[in-house]
Amino acid sequence: MKYGLGRAVFWALSYLALVLAPLAVAYQGGIEPRGFWIEFSVALGFVGLAMFGWQFVLTGRFRRFGASFGLDSMLQYHRQIAIVAVGFVLAHPVILFAADPTYLEYLDPRVNLMRALALAGVLGALLLLMATSLWRLSFGLSYERWRLLHGVLAFFVLLVGVAHVIQVGYYISAPWKQVTVVGMSAAAVFLLVNTRFVRPWRNRRRPWRVQEVRPEQGEAWTLSLVPDGHEGMRFRPGQFAWLTLGPTPFSMQQNPYSFSSSAEAAPEVIEFTVKPEGDFSSTVSEVEEGSTAFLEGPFGYFVPESDPGQGSVMIAGGVGITPMVSMLRTLADRADERECLLIYLNVALDQVIFLTELEGLKERLNLTVVHVLEEPPEDWEGETGLLDKELLVRTLPEDRAGQEYFVCGPKPMMDIAETSLIELGVPQRQILTERFDMV
Ligand SMILES: Cc1cc2nc3c(=O)[nH]c(=O)nc-3n(C[C@H](O)[C@H](O)[C@H](O)COP(=O)(O)OP(=O)(O)OC[C@H]3O[C@@H](n4cnc5c(N)ncnc54)[C@H](O)[C@@H]3O)c2cc1C
Repeated sequence: MKYGLGRAVFWALSYLALVLAPLAVAYQGGIEPRGFWIEFSVALGFVGLAMFGWQFVLTGRFRRFGASFGLDSMLQYHRQIAIVAVGFVLAHPVILFAADPTYLEYLDPRVNLMRALALAGVLGALLLLMATSLWRLSFGLSYERWRLLHGVLAFFVLLVGVAHVIQVGYYISAPWKQVTVVGMSAAAVFLLVNTRFVRPWRNRRRPWRVQEVRPEQGEAWTLSLVPDGHEGMRFRPGQFAWLTLGPTPFSMQQNPYSFSSSAEAAPEVIEFTVKPEGDFSSTVSEVEEGSTAFLEGPFGYFVPESDPGQGSVMIAGGVGITPMVSMLRTLADRADERECLLIYLNVALDQVIFLTELEGLKERLNLTVVHVLEEPPEDWEGETGLLDKELLVRTLPEDRAGQEYFVCGPKPMMDIAETSLIELGVPQRQILTERFDMV
């Protein structure tokens, strides 16, 4: 994703203002302070809860926010800030009980059974939310089951948190305050409902038919989809869509995949190329031709400039080639003459997805392809090993700062690529990244 400092600062300050807003509302109108530690613990509770509410925006796939950060960065932020939010919310009772143990009666079922159950439940839900997110595989949860559980637990925490604020009533006894807090929470819930139900509902009339399931070199599979009774979808090369396979869009299975076909072939035909990596992707080879799929998208800003004034350098690892091949196919279909360099890293030659096609694209484009193999065949004369700064020094064009860079592949490769490019004088704003693992 392309980072603009101005935009990042704007969104960071906006986020800060938004998570502090409920606290500002709470302290309006002559609230009697009850000592530093109690007020501090209350402030942590309010801010933690507000951060929870905003998590629904971060995961709601809104193009406007995506335009500033990119989906991968937003989800990384969602994960990291969640730890802070949970810390704040858990610190609230801990500090409160330490400051004044009489508050422990909130957990006493003899005083108020429902309140004690709800508060104990929410503490348990918070811990479960954290644990299943950090150690999903140890819990034996598939991504789809985890996602369902995650949504339910997050919804429960928000609901009980808001009910707790209203029930305590000390800070938001005024009706306008209650309306504001309930309104903010309702907006967060609406976002969840919108993402999980409204969008699939709208999408149900836009099914796609699987026209072909094609094996590719490197154990990957290409799914070719055609619109079934609608005009299809236009996208820009490098973008991605959420793919659901099956007769209904109301499914927990929804995975993001980059378009691998040319944007010029859309809206009639759209292709995705999938490498079997886990639960869902391993089933793609068994998809029946003629079956139904649903798409939500397009999303993403991992897209070449339309102005061919500058050259493009693409650094791909393994299946990270998919957005790049869409770019190259599109540029070829548009007879674009810009200079392109593809540095493509793989373990072995027989794992190079689109090997033959890339040779063909060289004929149609001003394209240089540098294959880098970790385990090369004996007669290999090309580059070997992993990505490092020296490889980039050897292969990049002289005018490094005058290029647009695209990086997509395994996390370690991407980290090295980004750091090395910056060290080599490439301005950060010219480096676009797409992270498939989103963590
Ligand atoms: C923008 C983007 C584009 C991608 N493009 C491609 C592509 O062109 N080709 C390709 O083979 N792969 C692509 N991926 C990766 C792909 O989405 C899956 O992660 C991968 O296929 C493994 O999924 P799985 O369910 O089989 O594996 P699992 O073992 O079930 O999941 C492995 C990991 O994949 C991620 N993941 C799985 N499902 C989801 C989901 N519904 N939402 C978010 N993350 C999920 C999670 O990080 C999870 O831990 C892309 C990912 C992103 C974010």
